[in-house]
Amino acid sequence: SHPDDFQGAPDTDYADTEKRTKAEEALQKVKQQLGKTYRPLINGEYVETANYLDSVNPSRDSELVGKVGQISVKQAEEAMNAAKTAFKSWKKTPATYRANILRKAADLMEERRNELNAWICLEVGKIIPQADGEVSEAIDFCRYYAREMERLDSGINYDIAGENNRYFYQPKGIAVVISPWNFPFAIATGMTVAALVTGNCTLLKPAATSSVIAAKIAEILVDAGIPKGVFQYVPGKGSEVGSYLVEHKDTHVIAFTGSREVGCRIYAEAAKLKPGQKHLKRVIAEMGGKNAIVVDESADLDQAVVGVVQSAFGYSGQKCSACSRVIVLSNIYDAFLERLVEATKSLNVGASDDPSVQMSSVIDATARDRILEYIEAGKQQSQLVLELPTPEGGYYIPPTIFAGVEPDHTIAQEEIFGPVLAVIKADNFDTALEIANGTDYALTGGLYSRTPSHIEQASGEFEVGNLYINRNITGAIVARQPFGGFKLSGVGSKAGGPDYLLQFLDPRVVTENI
Ligand code: GLU
Repeated sequence: SHPDDFQGAPDTDYADTEKRTKAEEALQKVKQQLGKTYRPLINGEYVETANYLDSVNPSRDSELVGKVGQISVKQAEEAMNAAKTAFKSWKKTPATYRANILRKAADLMEERRNELNAWICLEVGKIIPQADGEVSEAIDFCRYYAREMERLDSGINYDIAGENNRYFYQPKGIAVVISPWNFPFAIATGMTVAALVTGNCTLLKPAATSSVIAAKIAEILVDAGIPKGVFQYVPGKGSEVGSYLVEHKDTHVIAFTGSREVGCRIYAEAAKLKPGQKHLKRVIAEMGGKNAIVVDESADLDQAVVGVVQSAFGYSGQKCSACSRVIVLSNIYDAFLERLVEATKSLNVGASDDPSVQMSSVIDATARDRILEYIEAGKQQSQLVLELPTPEGGYYIPPTIFAGVEPDHTIAQEEIFGPVLAVIKADNFDTALEIANGTDYALTGGLYSRTPSHIEQASGEFEVGNLYINRNITGAIVARQPFGGFKLSGVGSKAGGPDYLLQFLDPRVVTENI
């Protein structure tokens, strides 16, 4: 194996005053544009709809970010027909032509970075430096998948004397992308451009709470030269339009990132053969996690505390990669817990556009209420050791820590998707790994240790898609930490990795007797 020389886009260095000023200017400019109306893009036209949905800033709930047209089932059918027509020519375009559209999109994202960061910050309540990381990731997805498609396009020759065998790939057809609000720019872009660059016509149905950002992705793809009907932006109600597109006989691939509940339903629905359907659908579903970090007695506790705090409370714990359990060896348990609580107390919670804020709100009232129920469940079963005052004016849940949590407690088993951390004590390292593996999920995991045998044991036995040793467990980078899990964390191969595009393609072999 050889090292992959892919170079990712660097994040903005906010220590640089000039860059901070530019970021602030972009934020002010975007604030002047709040409240506009966004229309779905169907067959190259921005269309009117009967219904509109308000998207608000979750960290300042009076602030309308935009109004987004919601397509009807009839419009979904129109989009599907347009996609089918467009596929006839899109599937024949050279891979490099498609790859170059992605490269152009990446360049446009780089040009608009500060503005995009501001939209992400205001629509989903993500602090600017983390929004910036998302824009880098989206750029990387475009450039990496462009290159990957060109690699795959060369195919393989298995020729022998008297017989030529050519192995190559063709696009599957129509892809439906159902994207999440928690990485509204990076993940929506990644799934969409993967489907497009492999030659599929693609319908993007974003999460309701992040559909303005998805409208920006549509703008960028149009500016990058995507032909009409090849890409369509179809915001709409999940239970109507989303289901309709998932169940449609002409859908070939469904790329989904979101909750376990919805992912399992999509998987089941997609498996049903509809009248007139002549293929089986491929489902890529990236779902939840109940990710643990193990801290053993040899760990550098300063490093471990910082890593756990970042992993648990970054973006209010609303990453499927987030740490929601920390499993600590008994002889360092008290010392670790004390330092963890102290470090977490100092987090500044507030509006996402305040540069001094480290953690902002959660996404909406439903999420807040669900998380509060988990906090109540936690209080019944274990000890609440940190609960901070709740800021007003948005959907805030401050960082919350429970200690003395048993591995089978509700808050140690179910995905909360909020800033709630369960601290669990383990008597020895084997038990710690057993506890870590004792959930339905297998997404990310972490280990803080300076014991080589523990590091080796965890590498083999810690059942997760992405294991991080002596660092935080979020923020996977394209072509460095291809990202994704197994068990009930999802199905499909890793985003930002060498197998991802294959899921959107059908391989063929042509044999010629000569
Ligand atoms: N890829 C992200 C990370 O590594 C998480 C993606 C998600 O939450 O869906 O932090």
